[in-house]
Amino acid sequence: MKNLNRQKIIKAITCKLAAQGPELNELYSKANRLRQRCMGDTVYLRGIIEFSSCCANDCCYCGLRSSNSKARRYSMSGAEILATALELEKSSLTTVVLQAGESPHGDEKLGEIIRQIKQKTNLAVTLSVGNRSRAVYQYWKDCGMDRYLLRYATSDKNLFKQLNPDCSLEERLDCLHMLRELGVQVGSGFMIGLPGEKPTTVAENILLCRALKLDMIGIGPFIPHPDTPLGNSQNIYSDDPEVFYKTLALLRIFNPWAHIPATTAYDAIAPGIGRNLTLQRGANVFMPNNTPMRYRDAYLLYPGKPCVDETPQDCAACVVSRIAALGRKIGTDPGHSIHPHFLSGTAMPSESPNKQEKIQPRGDAK
Ligand code: SAH
Repeated sequence: MKNLNRQKIIKAITCKLAAQGPELNELYSKANRLRQRCMGDTVYLRGIIEFSSCCANDCCYCGLRSSNSKARRYSMSGAEILATALELEKSSLTTVVLQAGESPHGDEKLGEIIRQIKQKTNLAVTLSVGNRSRAVYQYWKDCGMDRYLLRYATSDKNLFKQLNPDCSLEERLDCLHMLRELGVQVGSGFMIGLPGEKPTTVAENILLCRALKLDMIGIGPFIPHPDTPLGNSQNIYSDDPEVFYKTLALLRIFNPWAHIPATTAYDAIAPGIGRNLTLQRGANVFMPNNTPMRYRDAYLLYPGKPCVDETPQDCAACVVSRIAALGRKIGTDPGHSIHPHFLSGTAMPSESPNKQEKIQPRGDAK
């Protein structure tokens, strides 16, 4: 069954656009219908605050990597993060996503900020700050954290090792399992087209998302950043960008119940329309940038990031019109997970502590 699925995905990904026009449209329609049937017509907004560009890690693809001396580093104060979250709630957003590079020195402070946001607002709180110990995740959960985003970048463990000198794929997946056991809604995902990917990697990545029963899945094309070791590399699908959308559609088909965002990187490769296309091909979440203006251009994971010179108000207005133009409506509830795995409570530690369920990373794709 798994092999059959893998073959199906590989075939869909490797078929060139010209050779399969009607089939391609059918794939997109199928993903869109499934999104509508499982997730409805609501688009959930998750306001993102990129609160620090400081990072202790040296991931080869990321502009925030510690050895990029050209990156401008900033860290917002607790008061500033809280004030931004309060503003975000005023614009009718129901979730705040706190994202930053990896810097373990402020874990306690971050817990305090979560606590204050939960006391002063009705926002759901998502964190995205990398690998941590179970004790730290538990502490943040106790402070009120609802969800966690931690992408695994690639399911190819050898490629992962080459690109992420600071941790292994297994450690990253362990973090996801710990979060799940704590009852946190778990999000992960991958980049598409990293140099060194095999033709089978996209299929393995999609199937790993499914095996992990993720509540949220964020994916996007790899975009080379000039001040990184991959600065001179190209996305391996740069001559066939349709692969990025096919991957998203297949991701929906293999993960019908996941919240899937229209990620910013799609607008970086197709300004003004990339995210709209993903909303029509399987995505159901949008993440407007709420980082204060003065920090925007310093949080450069990759070049061409959209909205860098737009105010949060501009971003909010743009989002509303984009979603209305698609005939969809904006979610007014927090948009928590509706994955059957989460709803049935099997994500909770008391019922599913079984280590045997752990998904092992695949080495070389078979
Ligand atoms: N420190 C946090 C947040 C990282 S930034 C963490 O490790 O989870 C969020 C995501 O941006 C990363 O997980 C990665 O998938 C993506 N990203 C980083 N560099 C990128 C690049 N050059 N092109 C496309 N996506 C990139």
